[in-house]
Amino acid sequence: MRTLWKDDEAAACNSELELRVYTSRLLGQDKNLVLHGGGNTSVKVTEKNVFGEEEQLLYVKGSGWDLETIAAAGFAPVGLEHLKKLAQLPALSDPEMVNQLVTHQTRATAPVPSVEAILHAILPHQYVDHTHADAIIAITNTSDGELRIREIYGDTVVVIPYVMPGFDLAKLCVERFAAEAGVNTIGMVLLNHGIFSFGKSAKESYGRMIALVGRAEDYLGQHNAWVTAPVGGTASHGMELAREQAKLRADISKVAGFPVIVARHVDEKSLAFSRRADISIIAQQGPATPDHVIRTKRLPMLGRDVAEYGESYQQYFQTYEPQAKERKTLLDVAPRVVLDSELGLCAVGKNAQEASIVADIYDHTIDIILRATALGGYRALPAKDIFDVEYWDLEQAKLRKGGKPLPFSGEVALVTGAASGIGKACVESLLARGAAVVALDLDAKVAALKNSASYLGLQCDLTSDEQFKRALVQAIEKFGGLDMLVLNAGIFPGGCRIDSLKSEEWQKVMRINLDANLMLMRECHPFLKLAPRGGRVVVIGSKNVPAPGPGAAAYSASKAALNQLARVAALEWGADNIRINSLHPNAVFDTGLWTEDVLASRARHYGLTVDDYKKNNVLKTEVTSKDVAELTAELCGTLFAKTTGAQIPVDGGNDRVI
Ligand code: ZN
Repeated sequence: MRTLWKDDEAAACNSELELRVYTSRLLGQDKNLVLHGGGNTSVKVTEKNVFGEEEQLLYVKGSGWDLETIAAAGFAPVGLEHLKKLAQLPALSDPEMVNQLVTHQTRATAPVPSVEAILHAILPHQYVDHTHADAIIAITNTSDGELRIREIYGDTVVVIPYVMPGFDLAKLCVERFAAEAGVNTIGMVLLNHGIFSFGKSAKESYGRMIALVGRAEDYLGQHNAWVTAPVGGTASHGMELAREQAKLRADISKVAGFPVIVARHVDEKSLAFSRRADISIIAQQGPATPDHVIRTKRLPMLGRDVAEYGESYQQYFQTYEPQAKERKTLLDVAPRVVLDSELGLCAVGKNAQEASIVADIYDHTIDIILRATALGGYRALPAKDIFDVEYWDLEQAKLRKGGKPLPFSGEVALVTGAASGIGKACVESLLARGAAVVALDLDAKVAALKNSASYLGLQCDLTSDEQFKRALVQAIEKFGGLDMLVLNAGIFPGGCRIDSLKSEEWQKVMRINLDANLMLMRECHPFLKLAPRGGRVVVIGSKNVPAPGPGAAAYSASKAALNQLARVAALEWGADNIRINSLHPNAVFDTGLWTEDVLASRARHYGLTVDDYKKNNVLKTEVTSKDVAELTAELCGTLFAKTTGAQIPVDGGNDRVI
């Protein structure tokens, strides 16, 4: 554990709150301390209110903020005296506690304060830091965890047995702190949960966190429980396994009731862990800290029997729900982590971002389980405690805050010719609707087009079956399946009349505009067939299909043949619940093909201004890549759920087509 504190960076902070932001971010940067919204921090400050009176406030992390990226606006200012007074109540319900926190803030736009606000308030130190450090939870998730903690820390920390976070935990901490804290106390260990440090300055509190966690790491090292070298063998890749993964995704989506992303992880650690002989014991104890349950569920699924997993999850709900104070609604029963000896670790999420959070959390969970196992045995909290956090109203609220899912959330689209023009615009339109997008292009720049967990850009020559199959396997490994296919890639060679059209030129156009699309459709069909909401294919055709022009024989013939191919596919694939529709754009000028010079020369050729040339259609409107892309995305949506084999012009109205 090393400190990230830098004096010059700290010197740039101009207030106690800015220093609080600074060290909170330092904590957030170390994934061995906190992960994805975990942990919280606070600072107590004195401020003048509107009457000029001095007032003591607790600036505490607001829910929904991540320590790694938190800003001053992410801290909620709550009246400190009021919080201390609340801690003296004999009991306080969760909704009333949140009500008290929210109504005693001094800034209307502040986020909802952390549910640990009262606990932060009662600790008599200006700065308070709380993390779920891996090393601490590895040690406390063992049968003799408390003894080990006392052995490591002596009287420097107060030890708190596990109690659910919130008011009861704050009450217990008040008691234990009064009984156990002394002059040497610099922190507090919450068994099976995490650790607090505190101090009179941001530097002191942060430094103590690093030092305390460092001692836990040293302890693990001294007990040969730090490094756990993975011996995993190698993973298999290929089309056969990709199909098995897609089948697994279909099964999980069915049980979940919505499409999910299933990301396969076959790094050596994940693979070695999923192949361990004792996996059915060590991976079936429970999460490393209760906080993780809302992301990972209590237990990973071992193997691929999703129906059985769903049943045992229901059993768990039926066992613990009646013991809860108020009635609970069953969450979806699908797993979030799958451990399979062949597939390795599969992380499941409602979208790619969620799946990557699940993977991060379980990556740390593996370390924690292996270290606790090396200490003599990993032992998580009883299922009842985990249930209470999983179905805690306040935790549920965090998930609900996500709002209504986007229309293509959990779905995967593949777009060809995606580095520019209509293809690039399709990528944007599909991402905006929540899809994970696989973008293929001959141009290598496609790889870096977007920096998002939902984006995979791959350079690919679509005239090569091998290259495409490799890209498809990669896409399935990353996202788990394929729901939508946008056939956009194509070439438009310069004008050439039939009497001088070379066979090679003709064949090249056919290879790219027609043959490649047949291969793509054939290879994607088994995956589209497994799409939870049915597969959708959109073919970017051309006005030239219904209204060809002279000098474009190869192009027009290739697009017309592709159009016929799509119509046959609509007939053949309807039984597989796959829809295929075509768009016929015309005169889309905001693409790479059309430079200012070419536009000007074409406009001159027709005796028009550039603007009139662009709008030379019935509606006198310009058709953009975005127009085509938006219609492409809508064709994949519910509006066109009952349409297949259709051809829709997107051309501003063309008198020859009409
Ligand atoms: Zn916590």
